[in-house]
Amino acid sequence: MKNIERLPGVGEKTAMRFALQILKWPEAKARELADSVAELHRKIRLCSSCFAFSEEDPCRICVDPKREHDVICVVEDPGDMLAIEKSGAFRGLYHVLHGVISPMDGVGPEQLKISELVSRIARDGIKEVIIATSSTAAGEATAAYLCDILKGTGTWVTRIACGIPMGMDIKYADTMTLKRALSARERIKT
Ligand code: ZN
Repeated sequence: MKNIERLPGVGEKTAMRFALQILKWPEAKARELADSVAELHRKIRLCSSCFAFSEEDPCRICVDPKREHDVICVVEDPGDMLAIEKSGAFRGLYHVLHGVISPMDGVGPEQLKISELVSRIARDGIKEVIIATSSTAAGEATAAYLCDILKGTGTWVTRIACGIPMGMDIKYADTMTLKRALSARERIKT
């Protein structure tokens, strides 16, 4: 129970619900779950190029010839990468930082995969770096730091636009969101 509670977003009640469900299963099915959890560490590694979790190194995205190999989208964690991948809107490569700069939590640039990003840009002749960190304070600080450090590389650095979420009424959007939405406005093609 305590082990299940360690997972993000799982409280005492959910852990109890999971445990009760597992108890209803035949023992073989429960063992299968335990084995697959144990296998995660053995099978999954980090791609040495983009630092995504993968069974192969380099990962299947990094070796896909159909993707644009000179555009990199920089994300905080593998979950963000999966979300962008699911959208189908991006056909370049990724770079996973594994966190954001947050001095309060003792996380500086050297704890993240930033120096690896800089050397990758030079090595692979990257033309554009899209910074897709969250629009939280730490995400913005990380984006600003990356912008600064990538200035001299000759790469085109862009930031994903932040605006009003789909289906949201403008009057409920906060001031920062409205500011960003207005400054990142797009011309409607007529
Ligand atoms: Zn990769």
